[in-house]
Amino acid sequence: MKESKNILRDSHGRVHSYLRISLTERCNLRCTYCMPENGVQLAPKSHLMTYEEVYDIARLFVKHGVTKIRLTGGEPLVRKDIPVILEKLARLPVELSMTSNAITIDRFIPDLKKYGVKNLNISLDSLDRKKFEQITRRNQFDKVYSNILLLIKEGFKVKVNAVLIKGFNDNEIIKFIHLTEKLPVSVRFIEFMPFDGNKWDMAKMVSYNDVMNRVHAVFQKEDLLKLSDAPHDTSKNFKIKGYIGSFAIISSVTNPFCDSCNRLRITANGQLKNCLFSSSESDLLTPLRQGKSIEGIIQKAVQAKFKIRGGMDTLKKLQDPDLHSNNRSMISIGG
Ligand code: SAM
Ligand code: SF4
Repeated sequence: MKESKNILRDSHGRVHSYLRISLTERCNLRCTYCMPENGVQLAPKSHLMTYEEVYDIARLFVKHGVTKIRLTGGEPLVRKDIPVILEKLARLPVELSMTSNAITIDRFIPDLKKYGVKNLNISLDSLDRKKFEQITRRNQFDKVYSNILLLIKEGFKVKVNAVLIKGFNDNEIIKFIHLTEKLPVSVRFIEFMPFDGNKWDMAKMVSYNDVMNRVHAVFQKEDLLKLSDAPHDTSKNFKIKGYIGSFAIISSVTNPFCDSCNRLRITANGQLKNCLFSSSESDLLTPLRQGKSIEGIIQKAVQAKFKIRGGMDTLKKLQDPDLHSNNRSMISIGG
């Protein structure tokens, strides 16, 4: 049947071609900014998408124009059927990528290569073993760091994600940038974002300006090169002259990139979230299991997308706990 309307175009004219699929709410780390202290209420396994359902939903989005899929979680590699999921999704005409904490990624290198996953975003919030343990509540720094080096050696394109928290790891910004001197990675500094139970406080956030102030204090103006940002890129990219790698800042809080947003998210239990900050979700999995069409639900959810940050269009609103505490914690959204 001929499509009369692009169901992935929202009421602000944004076309959504990038889908992030969370495969699980489970994780082998316990990052403080992502997971509440007491963990999260896990959905029963029967409520989570099976690999066939992941594929069916992904295929539908691809039919309507999605060209890029990122697998995330929780930790996507804790799903036992990850090789099957990769094998199925590799059949779709999309660029397939993954965000992972890299703890077990060495075991999956053959699968990632076989199914064409070339771009990997790896979380690493500190280059200090003790601090890493403090933030992730697990002693896994060496494993993560050696796996990052292994991925680079194996030819993957690696981005390192570091969530910055004032007074905790903001003194490592320059150390992270120095990492890009010899390593072909892009280090991305992420502004700490508010979610249910993560004790967010504006005062703990390290902003784009804070990062740039530190950079300017160390590097000469002529050595700091602005790189071009790809369309829909959420990061502002830079490099230091002569360095192999680059760095970027993702300023979702102080300088949101909502105008050019092309992303949609599916949670592990098959709920469509039209924005990371949105507290509303649309259930795709129940109707899919009932054999009903879900295109109308997708269209309605996309149409309802707010222009800015799930409706929290000012920093004042973002600081109102009542507004963002209705949103799931990041572990169960899928970052
Ligand atoms: N387990 C994988 C990992 O850690 O890379 C994938 C899931 S994790 C939820 C995806 C990304 O979300 C990570 O880069 C993480 O640092 C980021 N993230 C989680 N909570 C955040 C928060 N409160 N503010 C900013 N970024 C956050
Ligand atoms: Fe796990 Fe990633 Fe969340 Fe850390 S950020 S707890 S690694 S899902």
